Amino acid sequence: MQKFVYDFTEGNKDRKDLLGGKGANLAEMTNLELPVPPGFTITTEACKVYLESGAEPPALRDEVSAHLEALEKGMGKKLGQADDPLLVSVRSGAKFSMPGMMDTVLNIGLSDASVAGLAAQAGNERFAWDSYRRLIQMFGKTVLGVDGDLFEDALEQAKRAKGVHDDVDLDAGDLQALVDRFKAVVAKETGRDFPQDPREQMDMAVRAVFDSWNGERAKLYRRQERIPGDLGTAVNICSMVFGNLGSDSGTGVAFTRDPATGHQGVYGDYLCNAQGEDVVAGIRNTVPLAELEQLDKTSYDQLLQIMETLETHYKDLCDIEFTIERGKLWMLQTRVGKRTAAAAFRIATQLVDQGLIDEAEALQRVSGAQLAQLMFPRFDEKAKAQRIGWGIAASPGAAVGKAVFDSYTAVKWSRSGEQVILIRRETNPDDLNGMIAAEGILTSRGGKTSHAAVVARGMGKTCVCGAEELEVDTKRRRMTAPGGVVVEEGDLVSIDGSSGKVYLGRVPVVPSPVVEYFEGRMHAGADDADELVKAVHRIMAYADRVRRLRVRANADNAEDAARARRFGAQGIGLCRTEHMFLGERRELVERLILADTDSERDEALAALLPLQRADFVELFEAMDGLPVTVRLLDPPLHEFLPDITELSVRVALAEARKDANENDLRLLQAVHKLHEQNPMLGLRGVRLGLVIPGLFAMQVRAIAEAAAERRKAKGDPRVEIMIPLVGTVQELEIVREEAESVIAEAEAATGTKLDLALGTMIELPRAALTAAQIAEAAEFFSFGTNDLTQTVWGFSRDDVEASFFTAYLEKGIFGVSPFETIDKDGVGSLVRSAAEAGRATRPDLKLGVCGEHGGDPESVHFFHEVGLDYVSCSPFRIPVARLEAGRAAAQDHSSGSR
Ligand code: PEP
Ligand code: MG
Repeated sequence: MQKFVYDFTEGNKDRKDLLGGKGANLAEMTNLELPVPPGFTITTEACKVYLESGAEPPALRDEVSAHLEALEKGMGKKLGQADDPLLVSVRSGAKFSMPGMMDTVLNIGLSDASVAGLAAQAGNERFAWDSYRRLIQMFGKTVLGVDGDLFEDALEQAKRAKGVHDDVDLDAGDLQALVDRFKAVVAKETGRDFPQDPREQMDMAVRAVFDSWNGERAKLYRRQERIPGDLGTAVNICSMVFGNLGSDSGTGVAFTRDPATGHQGVYGDYLCNAQGEDVVAGIRNTVPLAELEQLDKTSYDQLLQIMETLETHYKDLCDIEFTIERGKLWMLQTRVGKRTAAAAFRIATQLVDQGLIDEAEALQRVSGAQLAQLMFPRFDEKAKAQRIGWGIAASPGAAVGKAVFDSYTAVKWSRSGEQVILIRRETNPDDLNGMIAAEGILTSRGGKTSHAAVVARGMGKTCVCGAEELEVDTKRRRMTAPGGVVVEEGDLVSIDGSSGKVYLGRVPVVPSPVVEYFEGRMHAGADDADELVKAVHRIMAYADRVRRLRVRANADNAEDAARARRFGAQGIGLCRTEHMFLGERRELVERLILADTDSERDEALAALLPLQRADFVELFEAMDGLPVTVRLLDPPLHEFLPDITELSVRVALAEARKDANENDLRLLQAVHKLHEQNPMLGLRGVRLGLVIPGLFAMQVRAIAEAAAERRKAKGDPRVEIMIPLVGTVQELEIVREEAESVIAEAEAATGTKLDLALGTMIELPRAALTAAQIAEAAEFFSFGTNDLTQTVWGFSRDDVEASFFTAYLEKGIFGVSPFETIDKDGVGSLVRSAAEAGRATRPDLKLGVCGEHGGDPESVHFFHEVGLDYVSCSPFRIPVARLEAGRAAAQDHSSGSR
């Protein structure tokens, strides 16, 4: 028969699934022989049965009775016994901590019959009536659903009537009167009397805890934190100890070390003569835990010793709740405590130094997301700032700039050197240029997956979205904050993408020391080096030592390449060449597109060749000795031509003036000809190379000649030429043949042997499905998981995130955008099978990924698992990818799977 109830002596910390976090850790502390009041845990399985069937499992009642009897026997008194009542607490405790989301009821077992017994036993009448009024209040609110304010109001009235400030100043008589008031509230609000039967109180409280799993707050919290909805909560029934027995009693919370810095010491708060929630509820001022030493040295010393035991045992920072009852210390809860990103890194290295954990374990104590947080510049905490709004922290960072309300102004102002914050109600793809130009983006609508949020994160740009209290009026170019503060176009605003806060004016920023370190401007070895930087340096060294995946950068120019190298890149995995066709060169591209004759076209190409070659020389120099993958032109050509509407208007106006420009007319024709309904599925990638004569050949020649030039300069260029958007091996074969002959020509002309590798992107389902054939013509594959995600799902990357992803996330169709984290089951399974098929054809096939997923922590673990050789990501994400690649490898070692 299934067992639904476990005594604290039966569980342990590894049984959180069944006993919940609180129950598992109470059991662990019991096993450590720490002073835990005896009790038992009703399992999450019992809760699941209740949630599914609407009733407790039939066997539960008897099982609870047996455990209750054992508890009563051990304690030498019965639940609610009139002359000496055993009281219990009933506390929720799910597998994952859900702070404040679910319910707790204390002092169960008190009744009209036993309150006097409790008073007599404790020798303290005030305490007994205080406990009873707390029971009715908590039970009334959480179990019976009575509005908590009704109790609070009555308590306030009692204090006011007596002319006192604190609840401790109410005496036994006041509290006894309050109990009557509370009972009247219950009777009036629920139509029944407060239950006097102790067991009925307990059963009702257990059921209320089960029900609280599906409370609105809990559901919302789970959705946000991506906690599955079917885990259920356990219920802990624990014999009561009392911190409200007088000045020799109290209750407190503590951390075994500082959760903000990791420093060891005494961190916590203590409140005399108080119970349960009083400490966190802020009803009276707590004292720093260190003061307990003066109040009760014995308990204080014991507490410190217990904290050390817990740290050594859990090998981590723990947080605890404790109560002192008449000078005796009791432990009510412990768990591995939450900490800031900076503390996570420091604590991990401190624990290594203490010999508590090894380097592999240290890597599991931090995450790429935490490292990313540490890399953004921040607002100076010491600065004065006027907060005018608070939205969703969508993309971290601290940005300051002049408010602008449209993309056009953002671009215009930023071109003249201004820093701007783009403020919109919400953004759409038309705002892209403005978003690129802006320091940060602020919207008043939309959530974490709104267009603004997703795009900003992709660009590594600061973003606060959904700041609903801010009224954005784009027509009048102003924003109104609560209280009537008006921000006009050009006014300075500061936004904090890590906290979601919006400030008026300029809040000073300080650069992240961690970035200073990666940039090489701060050295971890220096005596005065920042403690955090030292910790990051050590953790990165552990990661680099164990990781198998190499990390490359997506970089298109020498400057990005140099930064990537400083950040630890081991090459370039994707150089997108389209940027080499923009700016002043756009005119040459126009000439290429408009060419009527071979010679016109050749001229345009010949003009582009030296410009591209010079770009490549710089890039190869910056990455000397490391591989550089250059992708031939990918985007549809119309992207290099003027916008169809703008051009149409220009031509129409000119015609009206009888001043038509021949070139514009030809351009317009070309734009019409190249116009596509679905450009992402149109004439782009390898298709361009196949239909525009000479285009790819020119690029290959520029690359080959640049490599030759670097060789001559005694450099060590290691170049890989990559063909985008291949769907079938035939496409690749044709392009490859042409490229090989161009390379041979360049080798002959320069007298240099070049050793250029030729490979392809795998970014179409057909390419993945025919990877075995494609590998015949490719020396490497680089998975373009951006396009692969688009084409596997049939999602247009630019359109769908802004339009319906929020609805998809809310409906739980996916937990995170598949453009952010690789969809393992769909896109990922194609990556896996294509990697296997490719290697079956060509065992030394080099495999990498260059889509956005290459810098996403969860995706990096997946690419490690499927055996890719490297991931490639934007320079700023390289440290994150290095760390996560190290974590993935360390996990393998500890689970022994590789
Ligand atoms: C990709 O598709 O994953 C890729 C890297 O190419 P792009 O994003 O340039 O289309
Ligand atoms: Mg692509």
